[in-house]
Amino acid sequence: MKYDPLTNRIGGEHVPFDGEHLDVVSPVDGTPLSCVPLSTAAEVDRAVSVAQDAYEAWSACTVKERSQVFYRYRELLQRHANELADLIRSENGKTHGEGRAEVAKAIEITEFACSLPQLTAGEVMEVSAGVECRVEHVPIGVVASITPFNFPSMVPHWTIPIAICLGNTFILKPSEKVPLTADRTADLLQEAGLPAGVFNVVHGDRTAVEAICDHQKIAALTFVGSTPIAKQVYVRATANLKRALAMGGAKNHLIVLPDADVEQTAVNVTASMAGCAGQRCMAAATMIAVGEVQAIIDSICDESRQTIPGENLGAVISHEAKERIEAYITEAERAGATVLVDGRGAVVPGCEEGSYVGPTVIDNVRPDMRIAQEEVFGPVLAIVRVQQLDEAIELENASPFGNAAAIYTQSGDAARSFIDAASVGMLGVNVGVPVPREPFGFGGWNESRFGAGDITGTSAIGFWTQSKKITTRW
Ligand code: NAD
Repeated sequence: MKYDPLTNRIGGEHVPFDGEHLDVVSPVDGTPLSCVPLSTAAEVDRAVSVAQDAYEAWSACTVKERSQVFYRYRELLQRHANELADLIRSENGKTHGEGRAEVAKAIEITEFACSLPQLTAGEVMEVSAGVECRVEHVPIGVVASITPFNFPSMVPHWTIPIAICLGNTFILKPSEKVPLTADRTADLLQEAGLPAGVFNVVHGDRTAVEAICDHQKIAALTFVGSTPIAKQVYVRATANLKRALAMGGAKNHLIVLPDADVEQTAVNVTASMAGCAGQRCMAAATMIAVGEVQAIIDSICDESRQTIPGENLGAVISHEAKERIEAYITEAERAGATVLVDGRGAVVPGCEEGSYVGPTVIDNVRPDMRIAQEEVFGPVLAIVRVQQLDEAIELENASPFGNAAAIYTQSGDAARSFIDAASVGMLGVNVGVPVPREPFGFGGWNESRFGAGDITGTSAIGFWTQSKKITTRW
């Protein structure tokens, strides 16, 4: 084991757990890294009770006072960015550069939290002679976030700085596959001066998540993960009268028109498909080739061949994930699709126990094939050919998901038609990973999100607070 066994982090303490643990294994080379507690409802209850105790003092601070912690925390994230990127690489398998990029996004959201005093200054108006109405945004209590494996730092930071800066106390239930970055996050928040009990980490799996959904003293939760679990969590949490926002999976379509710039499009589509080994909810999954775009497809194949596992392409999360991804490719090939670039069977010398899939480009995919419909979550691009833009948009909109979509073209008219018609939350024009920068919020539509609003940006302020409307006459 490279790291000590993990403990829950409750009330600023490492809390030992004598129940069941799960091994944490590096997908880079199969090295055992640590083990993580599979907490029960009792550990969730303990964390909630500590977070409740911390709530009174923390919520009584002004937002300006609370934001000071995040100015210091931002400096710590910056100072430790390389170390965090290494940790992310060890437990998640992505490249060091990709780890740095997600820490940069964590910093960006921390900066957004630092701006909350300005954004939440209350509104006030004289509504009739001598009568004033004002609105104040107040925190809601103990809140929780449940996060996935694919962004061990960025996704927890979608909520931690904003929810806490707004005065709530917080429980993080990170993915049991990548618990080490969450543990380090707890260290750094403590070092930044966050009072004990304001941020707590409870490790675990389904049991811990269900206990969070059921706990009567948790006022709100966010979930980020796959669609089936997002649905279950949303239904269970709201049935328990919690405020909930659950982000689900994705199947993102990139529409390529014949007038698109060949090189720019090829580089961008390949990066969208293969970046973070395709394990991004914003990754390109299906490319819809409209008309004659063979030169672009050839160029995507060239780019893909230069994307080498273990060099500029990271690992997928586990052997099971590798097998699942490869099975999708094999099934599509058997159903008549043409594998132009084949990433199956990738092995990285010196990391034979790692879990790698090379970039894979599959042409002549039919919309009824499973690879065109389900989330593969690997570096695989399925190309579906159509003749008209209308057909492409129709295909895109037939997907039950609605996280992201993009169009590649030099025509403003075509881009506008796509923007108007697409049933998707985040759209790109010549941008294959259209993640909105803050303060524009992150959030999909349809089966990619359950609940209202975006998880970051200004709409998160409404999620993590309730408003008090005060009418005054003196
Ligand atoms: P996952 O759904 O397997 O797990 C997410 C979280 O749910 C983890 O903390 C896990 O411990 C917990 N969990 C797992 N099974 C559970 C169960 N039966 N009941 C309750 N909780 C359970 O997701 P993952 O594999 O960790 O992450 C990949 C998925 O996340 C992909 O589908 C990806 O598209 C999605 N994702 C979505 C977004 C978004 O913003 N829409 C962002 C990142 C990832």
